[in-house]
Amino acid sequence: MLILTCPYCGVAADETELAPGGEAHLTREGPGSDDDAFAGYLFHRENPKGVHFERWRHAMGCGKWFHAARCTVTLEVFGTYAAQVTEPPRAIRDAVSARRPGWRWRDLT
Ligand SMILES: [Zn+2]
Repeated sequence: MLILTCPYCGVAADETELAPGGEAHLTREGPGSDDDAFAGYLFHRENPKGVHFERWRHAMGCGKWFHAARCTVTLEVFGTYAAQVTEPPRAIRDAVSARRPGWRWRDLT
């Protein structure tokens, strides 16, 4: 069972108390974007076997959206954090790197 700790109210909630919101950290494309970029924003999603960043809502609790970093294979949770960020906080990236040597956040090159 997947258990995530809500970063707002601190409750360790199982997945029946949460609502999934899909992939986190999407780049939103606006009216000025080209068709390919907008189609990518609407339809293309990562589906990794391993580390993944997701949006979740604490539906049966405080109702707020947050992000979670977890492994899709083992359900290991690396951490949860507020949704109002454009990339995972350093502490979350460090937690993932400590458990998955060689892993890098996609935007850090
Ligand atoms: Zn909450």
